[in-house]
Amino acid sequence: MSQPSVANPLPEPDWDSTRSAQLYGIDAWGAGYFSVSPGGEVQINVDCDGKQVSVSLAKIVADMHARGLHMPTVLRIRNILHHRISVLNESFAKAIADNGYRNVYRGVYPIKVNQQCHVVEDISNHGRRYHHGLEVGSKAELVIALSQQLHSHGLVICNGYKDAEYIDLGLYAHRMGIACFFVLETLNELELVIERSRALGIEPLLGVRLKISLEVDGHWSKDSGDRSIFGLSTAAVMRAVDTLRQAGLLHCLRLLHCHMGSQIPNIRNVRSGVLEACRYYAGLVEEGAPMGYLDLGGGLAVDYEGANTNSTHSMNYRMDEYCVNIVESIQETLDPLEISHPVIVTESGRATVAYSSLLLFNILNVSAGLPEVQLDPLPEDAHDTLRNLETVLASIEPAKMQENYNDALFYRDEVRELFHHGQASLRERATAENLFLAVLDTIMRQLPNMHRVPPELRDLSEQLCDTYYGNFSLFQSLPDIWAIRQLFPIMPIHRLNERPTRPAILADLTCDCDGRIDRFTTPDGEHHSLLLHPLKPDEDYHVGVFLVGAYQETLGDLHNLFGDTNVVNVAINDDGTYDFACEFHGDQIADVLSYVEYEPRQVQEKFRLVAEQAVRDGKISVAERQIILQAYRDSLQGYTYLEAH
Ligand code: PLP
Repeated sequence: MSQPSVANPLPEPDWDSTRSAQLYGIDAWGAGYFSVSPGGEVQINVDCDGKQVSVSLAKIVADMHARGLHMPTVLRIRNILHHRISVLNESFAKAIADNGYRNVYRGVYPIKVNQQCHVVEDISNHGRRYHHGLEVGSKAELVIALSQQLHSHGLVICNGYKDAEYIDLGLYAHRMGIACFFVLETLNELELVIERSRALGIEPLLGVRLKISLEVDGHWSKDSGDRSIFGLSTAAVMRAVDTLRQAGLLHCLRLLHCHMGSQIPNIRNVRSGVLEACRYYAGLVEEGAPMGYLDLGGGLAVDYEGANTNSTHSMNYRMDEYCVNIVESIQETLDPLEISHPVIVTESGRATVAYSSLLLFNILNVSAGLPEVQLDPLPEDAHDTLRNLETVLASIEPAKMQENYNDALFYRDEVRELFHHGQASLRERATAENLFLAVLDTIMRQLPNMHRVPPELRDLSEQLCDTYYGNFSLFQSLPDIWAIRQLFPIMPIHRLNERPTRPAILADLTCDCDGRIDRFTTPDGEHHSLLLHPLKPDEDYHVGVFLVGAYQETLGDLHNLFGDTNVVNVAINDDGTYDFACEFHGDQIADVLSYVEYEPRQVQEKFRLVAEQAVRDGKISVAERQIILQAYRDSLQGYTYLEAH
């Protein structure tokens, strides 16, 4: 396959990059980080010390190829990650200053959202200036968190179920001066924390996780409300307070935790949830707990659709509005009770990392939704039904389009039925299907001239779209599209001053009918196809799936043994150059085999025996055996995706 073209073809007179930007809605979902250049390429825009710098994505892809990093590749842009942490912290700082709030914000990044070492390290390093901390949900994540050199004011929030080992590690961290909080998920955990704290002689920093009654909108509504599986009921919170009082440890209860769900699209839910949490906070202060920290969990959304609405994959608020709403709601509840303002903690994951990663892949092949058909004249003795189909084809007209379509469908199905009963030949069936396709083709051509298109025919264009086969695995790189019908912005990264003419769906490399993308966000709502460009011979066509930094890298699986993709971390400089700060080559076949309990050396040895047997049976020569064994060894070292030669 050839290198991608980064040359800028002359714009078509009736189409330019502005039209592409509108079509794909990039200015709405790109949040300023992504746009289309006049040359027709997606560009990344970042702020380098107050200077706006733009870099062509197609150029980065060409540079990756030159370094042997082929598609598919996850591209992480360090500047965007840093910017996300900065805006989150600065938005809270501004809301705090503007409202005269008498305490500070301490963000913590939930490691589970993207646990990759370089992501967590980047967040910890850049976040240090803001005293940004980490949230962990398991022992393994605590081990990661404790290895990061956080600022001494940075918090480590320990969620998730805990055993003695987890608790001991957190207590030791506290002893070393790290503000490591245990958030109690169950009452049993409290008994264990008290026991371990006494055994080690270290008092814990404690929080309680609350199950609030408010149910939020969006996909994660079940994380909130009375039926949520996480957190303590009000009665359990009271029992925790009583137990702590009896143990003489009520002074350790410092934090109230409440996570209402991820991707909360509606700001009114945030406000109501904070008000409810504050009532509990006030209640705990009244019970005599010192408190001081209010942790509102995650939930700050990402506008994947760029629609600015309260639909599941969008959000009807901006980040600064989110911060102001939280600050004001706390003041509104606690000020009349004369309770000191707590440190505000949030565990924003999605909003921190989503924008900074994108998946890039090339298109391998296209299967036309409406293949070109060649119609031969019908033989003299052709079946009546075939003649009827031919008549329908000859008589298509806009006023009777629906009727023509119904008739063609009826006759095609009749021939299929006849074939079923042995009364039509294979050739006759093929002729009927070709005639039917020709009818569809004629209808599709006339649709744009129709004043009112019947709904059934309107849907046809989406049903007849092309399939573009992409060099990626949905299950490995975009699992949420399959698991929770998540929408991500998707578009070609180049040729954007050429009109895209092919409505298409995307299929991945797995042999699974779920390995497809057939829901796309567009400025006029969700569509079942995406307009793409016809492939050009000898030129790669590259597509980007944007905003995939949250959850996708961690939740992917090995369906069909497609492994981790290549990853490149790019840092953009203020002169418009960029550094490949890190590059990781994706899994080799030997790697993925070992993940599923094969020992690559043993597999190789077993194949040698198969080859040896073939020599003994006279099927291959010894020289051929050598070539075949070498090909097998090379495969074991190869990328699990399709490679360019
Ligand atoms: N905190 C907790 C306890 C969570 O369960 C989650 C994810 O669901 C988060 C934080 C991160 O949420 P988000 O990615 O919406 O910021």
